[in-house]
Amino acid sequence: EAKRNGANRVQCFTSRLQVDLEKHLNIEKGLRHALQNDQFELYLQPKWWLSTRQIYGFEALIRWRLDADHLVSPADFIPVAEKTGLIVPMGEWVLRTAIEYLQTWRRLGLDKQFIALNVSPLQLRAGCFVEYLADLLNKTGISPDLLEVEITEETLLDPYSDDYKAQKDLGRIRELGVGVAIDDFGTGYSSLKYLRQFPVDVVKIDKSFVSAEAEGLAEPEICRAVVTMADSLGMSVVAEGIETDKQLEELIAIGCSKGQGYLVSRPVSFKDATEILRAAADSDSAPTL
Ligand code: C2E
Ligand code: MG
Ligand code: MG
Ligand code: MG
Repeated sequence: EAKRNGANRVQCFTSRLQVDLEKHLNIEKGLRHALQNDQFELYLQPKWWLSTRQIYGFEALIRWRLDADHLVSPADFIPVAEKTGLIVPMGEWVLRTAIEYLQTWRRLGLDKQFIALNVSPLQLRAGCFVEYLADLLNKTGISPDLLEVEITEETLLDPYSDDYKAQKDLGRIRELGVGVAIDDFGTGYSSLKYLRQFPVDVVKIDKSFVSAEAEGLAEPEICRAVVTMADSLGMSVVAEGIETDKQLEELIAIGCSKGQGYLVSRPVSFKDATEILRAAADSDSAPTL
């Protein structure tokens, strides 16, 4: 009887692997198709000054458009994109698209906002991200301070190869004049030592420390510690995932000055982001939400 149960369990486990594998292969096939058929969209989430709600930039977030009603969230396909290496051409598409957005804003005279891009560790390790970035900046004449690169702590930790030096790439990105931010700070395994060693301009407090079920900050002590640390290292702090007025107030009280979150705006389409900027320009005011 016990033996039969054991065998059943193995079978059950195998079929689950089978399902995962099939799902993986489907997503991979879908992603290749999406790349060829222009089915990705790049949404923009406003970044704002906490005290005034004035917008100072946007974070670019990729979505996969399946059809008119279905938008797939990156959490569902970025892991597969990383495993298959598709993240490299996808990341190049993201960079090209963000630069096209900046060119359009420049043409419209709305060129005061920067765009932050998420860059995965694999994209940097694949080798040519920095060259691709330098080349695009050169060709378009887009000012490098209109771009920022968001990396996670994983990128710093370098688990895959001994000779890869994230430090060198990040240094080159900053030499180009492009900013570097550490995303989801506090969720990885990096230490203060890494932050001192790496050339970083911005630390983003992970949203799990900002919002949960409670009205107020999920982890006020951690938020405060990150703000204090960033201040003393001369880095700026952005809180992500601000959902309530109470969280906003508490962040202001501990000295955090910038943020993002559903409280003020979800990620929006390029058209909507441009509309926000245009309305502000028309009324001769700063874009405020
Ligand atoms: P992230 O870079 O940490 O982005 C923040 C995520 O939190 C986004 O999810 C955003 O929509 C969501 N968010 C923003 N405000 C709030 C809020 O107030 N409450 C809550 N609950 N969530 C909020 P999204 O767009 O689904 O992206 C998830 C992750 O996928 C990103 O996390 C990033 O790691 C990755 N990702 C997105 N776009 C790209 C990309 O172009 N390239 C790469 N390599 N990764 C990307
Ligand atoms: Mg990010
Ligand atoms: Mg983040
Ligand atoms: Mg996050």
